[in-house]
Amino acid sequence: MFIDLRSDTVTKPTQGMKEAMFTAEVGDDVFGDDPTVIALEEKAATMFGKEAALFCASGTMTNQLAIRVHTSPGSEVICDKLSHIYLYEGGGIALNSLSSLKLLEGNKGRINAQQVRDAINNPEDIHQPITSLVSLENTMNKGGGCYYDLAEIEAIRVVCNEHQLPLHLDGARLFNALVETNESALTHGNLFDSISICLSKGLGCPVGSLLIGKKDFIKKARRVRKAMGGGWRQAGFLAAAGIYALDNHVERLKEDHARAREIGIMLQGLPFVEEIYPIDTNIVIFRLPDSILATEFVAKAKEQNLGCVTFGKHLVRFVTHHDFSDEHLAAFEKTIKQII
Ligand SMILES: *Cc1c(COP(=O)(O)O)cnc(C)c1O
Repeated sequence: MFIDLRSDTVTKPTQGMKEAMFTAEVGDDVFGDDPTVIALEEKAATMFGKEAALFCASGTMTNQLAIRVHTSPGSEVICDKLSHIYLYEGGGIALNSLSSLKLLEGNKGRINAQQVRDAINNPEDIHQPITSLVSLENTMNKGGGCYYDLAEIEAIRVVCNEHQLPLHLDGARLFNALVETNESALTHGNLFDSISICLSKGLGCPVGSLLIGKKDFIKKARRVRKAMGGGWRQAGFLAAAGIYALDNHVERLKEDHARAREIGIMLQGLPFVEEIYPIDTNIVIFRLPDSILATEFVAKAKEQNLGCVTFGKHLVRFVTHHDFSDEHLAAFEKTIKQII
C-alpha cells in the first residue's frame, strides 16, 4: 500500500462523485449554456453571498485571473513572502499582469493590518509602483495550514477601504479553515472582493477551482480566461463533481484535521524530528536535523511506500485528505519509524 501524503490533490473521485459526473447534463460552456457549470457557479456565488463565479481548470488560473483583473501593468501586489501566488505560480504575476510584488514577512505566512498599511505606496510619488491589490492566503500552505483570525482580516479590510484597494483571497483550502473555526462562507465572502477556492484539494474533485466575485469582475475574468485558452466546452461533467463535493465533502474535512494531529503525535520523539509546526488543519510540516536533507528523507520515504514532499532544505510536508483513511494512518505509524 502506498501511503500518499504528498498533497490533498492526489484524491480520486468516489463512486458517488463519478455517478454525479456520469449523469451530468451538459452544454457548451463557451456559449454559456452548460447547465451544470451554471449551477455550480451559482451555488458557489450564493454560498459566499457574491453575485457571480467562474469555474476554471486550476487554482493558479483563478488566482492569476483575479490578479490580472484587479491590477494594471506596472503596479504592485501586497502579499506575504510565503504566498502561493509568489512561490508556486510560475512567475505568473509578471507574465500575465506585468506587475510586481511587495513581499511582507508575516507570522507563518499571515500578514497583519499594520504591515499592509505600511506597505502601501504613496500614489503621488512617481518613483514608486502604484499599489493595486492586497492578497491573503487562508489556510496558509507554507505556514503549515494555519488560518487567519477573522478580526485580522477585518482590520486588513478597513485598511483596504481607506486606500480603495481590492482584497483578494487565495482560499485554495478556505473550507479547511471554515470547518475548524465554524465561521461561515458568507462572512468571508463579505470581506473580500474576490475569492479563489479549490475543488481539487481536500474536497476531492479530479479538477477545478472557482473564482467568486462581483458580476462585472467575473465578466472581465471570463474574457481573460478565454484569451488564455481556458474556455472549455462540456465542462459540466467536471462541474458535477464540484457540486457533489460542496454538498458532501465539506464537513468531513474535520476528519483530515484529526488524522493530521495524529500524525503530529506519531512524529513526536522520533530521532529525526527537530520541530513540528503547529497543526491547525490538514497540513503537517516538520524539520529535520541539519545533517539530513529533505530531498534524502523524501527519497527514503518513497522507498518505504510513503509519499511526502520537501518544503525547504530541511522541511518535509505531509497533507491528509479524503483518500487517507484510518488504515493508512495505522500503516503510516509503522512506516515512519523505519525511514531512517
Ligand atoms: C494548490 C494551491 C493553489 C492552486 O493550485 P493549482 O494546482 O493550480 O490548482 C493555490 N493556492 C494555494 C495556497 C494552493 O495550495
